[in-house]
Amino acid sequence: MRQEVHRSEKLNVLSELAASVAHEIRNPMTVARGFMQILSQSTVTEEKKQIYTSMVIEEIDRAQNIISDYLSFAKPQAEKLEELDVSGLSHKLNNLINPYAAMRGVEIIIHMEPSLVIKANNEKMIQCLVNLTKNGIEAMPSGGLLQISGFKRNAKIILQIKDTGMGMTPEEVNRLGTPFYSTKNKGTGLGLMVSYRIIKTFGGFIDVTSEPDEGTCFTISLPVA
Ligand code: ADP
Ligand code: MG
Repeated sequence: MRQEVHRSEKLNVLSELAASVAHEIRNPMTVARGFMQILSQSTVTEEKKQIYTSMVIEEIDRAQNIISDYLSFAKPQAEKLEELDVSGLSHKLNNLINPYAAMRGVEIIIHMEPSLVIKANNEKMIQCLVNLTKNGIEAMPSGGLLQISGFKRNAKIILQIKDTGMGMTPEEVNRLGTPFYSTKNKGTGLGLMVSYRIIKTFGGFIDVTSEPDEGTCFTISLPVA
């Protein structure tokens, strides 16, 4: 009984989230569609064409960003939790974020102790780690160091993502995880909310320490499987 209540609550949270994300994707689609309709008319001047085209691209990029923060690694029916050794994700994570880091002059150091086994879902875990590392990289517009480490401490698996970026004030830290809260030009404000929820479904939690102009450290704590 109790478990059933728990499960239906989780479903509600998920469908609520899916609804708001669908809404956020529909907006740029509607705008892009409108511009395309105008563009299809032969009376549009060359100058207007250029402006509208770049606006369409911008709107499509926005929808793309929402999808990549929310479900780029999601597989349908990937709800089941399985034993997962997170230390084995280093290679994949490195491959995924390296081009993004290189573009911004960010050095990545990954250090994981062997055999860090948790109960999780592979794709969701990667989604969470990508969201956090992407934020770390984006917090260092003129380059820096991103350290990802994994270790065991007091029967918990700890994963840390630490950057040497712009950092946050305590007020800013307090707002983290609020849906659609973003300080970025092309931000979605979905990455952290999604990450917090993923880790919660694995029975863990995320802590943040941050210092303006020094950097930020996100700490994921998960029970050992
Ligand atoms: P987005 O990245 O699209 O803005 P997120 O949910 O991933 O959305 O992050 C929300 C906000 O939290 C960011 O806009 C930024 O202000 C802040 N933030 C997240 N991670 C960091 C970080 N590592 N350093 C500084 N600020 C961060
Ligand atoms: Mg983000």
